[in-house]
This record gives sequence, structure tokens and C-alpha cells, in this order.
Amino acid sequence: MSDKPDKFIDDDGLRLDGRRFDEIRPMKIEIGVLSRADGSCYLEWGKNKILAAVYGPRTLHPRRKQIPDAALIRYRYNMASFSVEERVRPGPSRRSVEISKVSAEAFEPVVLTKYYPNTVIDVFTEVLQADAGTRTAAINAASIALADAGIPMQGLVSACAVGKVDGKLVLDLNKEEDNFGDADLPVAMTQDGEVTLLQMDGNLTPDELKESLEMLKKGCTEIFEIQKKALYTKFGKDPVLDVDDIDDEDDEGLAQIQVELDDSEGEDVELDEDYLDVDEELEEAVEVIEVEEDPDKKGISNLSDEKEDDSDEQ
Ligand code: UDP
Repeated sequence: MSDKPDKFIDDDGLRLDGRRFDEIRPMKIEIGVLSRADGSCYLEWGKNKILAAVYGPRTLHPRRKQIPDAALIRYRYNMASFSVEERVRPGPSRRSVEISKVSAEAFEPVVLTKYYPNTVIDVFTEVLQADAGTRTAAINAASIALADAGIPMQGLVSACAVGKVDGKLVLDLNKEEDNFGDADLPVAMTQDGEVTLLQMDGNLTPDELKESLEMLKKGCTEIFEIQKKALYTKFGKDPVLDVDDIDDEDDEGLAQIQVELDDSEGEDVELDEDYLDVDEELEEAVEVIEVEEDPDKKGISNLSDEKEDDSDEQ
């Protein structure tokens, strides 16, 4: 790791990479980069390089994990071994499990999971090159990949961090500011400013926290505009619907969503009923056996769950 710089902000108020205190790094978004995923996105943000892939909604196995009135959002954040200076050990770590969990929760308020009971929406994010702010970069990429997959959402999620260096708040930390700064506050929010993720390392006063949230709102709004522009460029229109289009009491809302999504790329993105029911026969057979077997003993039902588990791994 490099040494701590003497100063993070020069006499002209510029940071080590030449940005002002409230400026985000340049962001580049490419949509639909993976042909096997239902939705995908490649995102560069400063020196961060992130790939996001979305699969589903598809039937969730094992069935005991299914939510009867909603889809489960399963989110994986992973850092490639080669993404940082010091090789990252492959496989899940405490850090990646935590980031995966909070990132899934960052999408729960906006993804309309209630339309896809018993299914799973898988979101995979891979950090190919890291330079601070990777969890927020991954959320920004995942948001686009979800839209590309035609998953109905109330809006996009945008994410950014604020930190403190030389006693001053700065937006979108670079690596030196993240590693040697006094605070790191990653936040995700909807386009309406509803916070869906907030974490904090270090210390901020209540006033600083208030100011940080204002800066984050500005940063996330700028990111939202970049995301929206990328979607418009790809689809000719924003495939994420306005929340007003969704009527809770009426499935016409969903039908409308599907129509808009179908129109957006000329592709059929409706849920494939046959696909979702592909394991129905097998499950019915297993259910019969479950009734005959003592459910408390380890039996065929448990074995079948394990088998289904294996078959569902990516
Ligand atoms: N980092 C690293 N090795 C690790 C984890 C992180 O070199 O195992 C670096 C990487 O550049 C990352 C930065 O430290 O972007 C900040 O990590 P943090 O845990 O704050 O998460 P992030 O800011 O990337 O969301």
C-alpha cells in the first residue's frame, strides 16, 4: 500500500486526482455485455471496473427458501483475486458476505418482488479492478443490469460515498482518501432520495452527517442521470417505470409494465410460465413421498432439497 499523503487537498481546494470536494469520478456504463445473462452491465467509475449480471426471476430451489408472496433478491458481491494490489483470497469473506447482504437490501424497496412469488432474482457483481467505492459502483451496475433484465422496479438505485480528509468532507472517495481518510459513508438511494443503504466507518459529527447526506444526494442525482442516459441510449427510452404507473389493487399495472418493457427492446421479457414450472412435476412427486415419509427423519425430501440446491448453483 502507498504511504499516507501529507495533504489530501491542495491550496486551490483540489484533491489528489484534481477533483473538487463535491465532484464524482467519471463514470462509463455499457449495457447488455453478457449474452447468457438476462441483464448485464459493465461499469467503469474512475479506476473501478465492475461487471454485473442478473438472472431471473426463476423458481427458487430449495423450496423451503421460497417466499410465497414475493421474489427473493439474491445478491453476490465478489472481488476478483487480481482486482487489487494485494491478491484477494478467492471465495466469500466476511467483508463480501456483508456487502452482499446490505446490497440485496438496498434493492428490496424498489424491485417489485411481489409479482414473482416463490422465485429468485440473482444479481452477481464482480469487481475486476478496485479503487475504492466498489460496493457503491457494484450497486450502480446492478441497478442497470436489473433494468436490462426487464425486472419491474419503482426506479433505479444510485450509490456513492462521502468521506472526510484534512477535516473536510469529500464526495466519492478515491483509494488514498478511503484508505487514509477519517470517515467513509457509503449510501444508496432511490431517485426520490429515499436511502436504501447507509454504512459508516470512522466518525462524523451530526452536522457533518447532515452535510454528507446533502452531498450524497447531489452525487446520487448525478449518477442517476448517467444511468438514465445509458438506458435511454440503449433502449430509446427509460425502461424503468414511474411509480405512478403501478396500481397496487390492479394487475393492469403489471401488464402495463410488461408491455412497456417488451416495447423497449423489441424482446419478449415477460415471465416464461413454462420455465417457472419446469420442476413442478418433480416437486409434486417429491411431495407425495414427503407425505408418506416421516418428515422428521432425514429422508428423500431432504436429499431432494440438496440435489435441487446443487442444480441451482451458478
Ligand atoms: N481493498 C483491497 N483489498 C481488500 C478490500 C479492499 O485492496 O481485500 C481496497 C480496494 O481498492 C477497495 C478499497 O480498499 O476499493 C476500499 O475498500 P472498502 O472495504 O472501503 O470497500 P469499497 O470502498 O470498495 O466499497
